[in-house]
Amino acid sequence: MSTDTNILRTPPAPVRAAPLEDARRQLAEAVSHLGLSEGTYRLLAHPRREVTVSVPLRLDNGDVELYIGHRVQHNFSRGPAKGGLRYAPTVDLDEVRALAMWMTWKSALLDVPYGGAKGGIAIQPRDHSRAELERLTRRYTSEILPVIGPERDIPAPDVGTDESTMAWIMDTYSVNSGYTVPGVVTGKPLELGGSLGRASATSRGVTHIALAALQHAGIARRGARVAVQGMGKVGRDAARFLAEAGLRVIAVSDQYGAVHHDGGLDIAAVVRHLDVTGSVVGAPGSDELEREALLELDVELLVPAALEGAIHEGNAHRVQARVVVEGANGPTTTAADQVLADHGVLVVPDILANAGGVIVSYFEWVQSNQTYWWSADEVESRLEARMLSAWEQVVRFAADRRLSLRAAATALAVGRVAEAHRLRGLYP
Ligand code: GLU
Repeated sequence: MSTDTNILRTPPAPVRAAPLEDARRQLAEAVSHLGLSEGTYRLLAHPRREVTVSVPLRLDNGDVELYIGHRVQHNFSRGPAKGGLRYAPTVDLDEVRALAMWMTWKSALLDVPYGGAKGGIAIQPRDHSRAELERLTRRYTSEILPVIGPERDIPAPDVGTDESTMAWIMDTYSVNSGYTVPGVVTGKPLELGGSLGRASATSRGVTHIALAALQHAGIARRGARVAVQGMGKVGRDAARFLAEAGLRVIAVSDQYGAVHHDGGLDIAAVVRHLDVTGSVVGAPGSDELEREALLELDVELLVPAALEGAIHEGNAHRVQARVVVEGANGPTTTAADQVLADHGVLVVPDILANAGGVIVSYFEWVQSNQTYWWSADEVESRLEARMLSAWEQVVRFAADRRLSLRAAATALAVGRVAEAHRLRGLYP
């Protein structure tokens, strides 16, 4: 845990995370634990298919700007590729490759019949009008049209995209097909065949896992202190659900800063302030806090729900949380993972903790393909059952094999994907 000497010699934070290196290291560890071949490692370390496209965009002022987009399909041995679409200035091919690989493990771990994919465009969506984002999305969709589809690859929202983005993709794909194809995306608006419970599914899943992890660590949920990094699609509902479950959410942050209140923040008031002003900073009943300091607060539970590499070797030794539940994909670097393990912090990995999104995406795809809709209760109870069953499998595997939860989750998932490869055989 943090000591005075540690605080005095603060190493500079790494400028960029290296998620692909982390993802490949985790894979290598799983392959070696399972006794799989070097060839299997190579097969799974490289995506099955990558598409990089130019996306010219006519701006509202008439100028033309060029953006670069990617769609990476890491694996489809267990079913169609599946994964989100990210609009962020930091998007690059290696990041998309890592995120696609994690989607493969996530789907396999939760036993949804998908492989993994991810897409991204290197753009700051906040700098663009809705009309510009629609044109960008439609052009990107037409560029990747040949490789997506309900049986090929099914995009969903991720950082910087939302249900409108999915509606535009669905419409572009459908117009080009000549009929409506709702199963080509998930995370659609309800009116177009979206599923009840999809928008909050990742946060619900994070909450189920956080409660199970606290219990596993022998920490009473009532009054347990929580810090949530990121108030986007995952963080804002996770903060709300955790508060509703009796925990004390004492700090939340966004890209502009963090707010804190020892007695527990009024999450509804923070979210109202965020919706009106665009930031949590200045929310009623809160003190301002250094954005990065949120990660180092004395809390029982830390939920990093922003981007990759938030907990790195420069700050991991100052993390005081007893349990870390990864709402984001790849928020803990490999080096930080080791530091947290040495400090006895229980880390619940992303491919388990944030899998609620892809689980309800699967439910949405099933409903879209069958045009038969489930009730919110059905969605939520099936989500909870799948999350808790995966949690138990991971905890048991970790205990039996003396592995961290991340190593156990990755090995379970990699084992399932490798077995699908073995059963299908190598063509030709
Ligand atoms: N973007 C989400 C994730 O990283 C959801 C993916 C999906 O539903 O396909 O898990």
